[in-house]
Amino acid sequence: MNKKTIRDVDLKGKRVLVRVDFNVPIQNGEVADDTRIVAALPTLRAILDQKPRALILMSHLGRPKGERNPEFSLKPVVPILAEKLGIDVAFADDCIGEVAEKAVADLPDGGVLVLENTRFYAGETKNDLEIAEKLAKLGDIYVNDAFGSAHRAHSSTEGVTRYLPAVAGLLMEKEIEFLGNALDNPKRPFAAILGGAKISGKIEVTENLLDKADMVLIGGGMANTFFAAQGIAMGDSLVEAESIDTAKAILAKAGDKLILPVDGVIADAFDAAANTKTIKVADGVPDGWRLLDIGEETVKLYSDKLSDAMTIAWNGPMGVFEMAPFAKGTFAVAEVLAERTAAGALTIIGGGDSASAINQAGLADKVTHVSTGGGASLEMMEGKVLPGLAALNDK
Ligand code: AMP
Repeated sequence: MNKKTIRDVDLKGKRVLVRVDFNVPIQNGEVADDTRIVAALPTLRAILDQKPRALILMSHLGRPKGERNPEFSLKPVVPILAEKLGIDVAFADDCIGEVAEKAVADLPDGGVLVLENTRFYAGETKNDLEIAEKLAKLGDIYVNDAFGSAHRAHSSTEGVTRYLPAVAGLLMEKEIEFLGNALDNPKRPFAAILGGAKISGKIEVTENLLDKADMVLIGGGMANTFFAAQGIAMGDSLVEAESIDTAKAILAKAGDKLILPVDGVIADAFDAAANTKTIKVADGVPDGWRLLDIGEETVKLYSDKLSDAMTIAWNGPMGVFEMAPFAKGTFAVAEVLAERTAAGALTIIGGGDSASAINQAGLADKVTHVSTGGGASLEMMEGKVLPGLAALNDK
């Protein structure tokens, strides 16, 4: 990576202001899933090892839409972080201004402080530079470890870098290594697997990966629009009529590189208790039925295609994996990735639904990398520059 990281700078005696991704789910005032807190720990520990004056953490949580709302407070993160780090963690009721400045000043040497939700200010998501400058006042150096927010130019991800030296944290570095470098210079054969509900949100990633990869395997609802573009009847399946022309253009350009499912599981209702059967896609989907998962033949075809792949990138489930009858295809693909990883391939899972699918399959630690960022990982796979990353100091 050509950006400086916390390893390239001296943090001793400094007030280190870190943008973390503590956008965790809160239920009844408690953190319901601490995955994102755990993911930040290596960076936080590495900073503390350098004996800084203070470690100051900022993040957004949810969408409070620019207003103070206790439902979106970061306070519930404090006890979890204190427990994981094994030291006291203070909390400031505001992320800028007198309250925040006093909280920083009151910290003991080496103390840790969590600031209140940056999105309690409407200017944060507009990259308001006044807010950025006030945030910057709290630190001597800025670290961005919030990969999940790096695709947004906000005061706490981009604006703040204009006022302080700015470097990457270790999580950010790891994400860039896998989603950037590994996909730009892949060990071949390089296969991409794309799924999810809609083709409309995945057009750019499909085009970029068709350029870079040796093959792109399609699954999930997005396959439906390709089938419709081929003139196959799709019954009541999710099809985006407005994207059919785009699908036709992609099919024409992609040739053999784009591989579509050959069979699928159809259901007579969008319901886990629906009647189901497996059909060959070429026979079409009858009216009143919808295609909700890839079938066994497709799983076999895809596992053959992937059998010698040395790099595999996966974004989007192969079916409606939230319902058991339509989860088999997604879990089977997860198994194939685990097998390829064991055989020495580099396997990278984009965040969001594919990450939760691999977690549900219990295989998250059997693949090379599961991204912590949904939108950000998709944008990296689209080949886009992330503003929060671009703004960091070059090596
Ligand atoms: P995305 O956010 O675009 O990656 O889409 C993820 C969602 O796609 C999941 O909630 C799946 O339930 C849904 N999905 C996957 N396959 C299908 C399908 N064949 N029909 C409808 N929804 C699907």
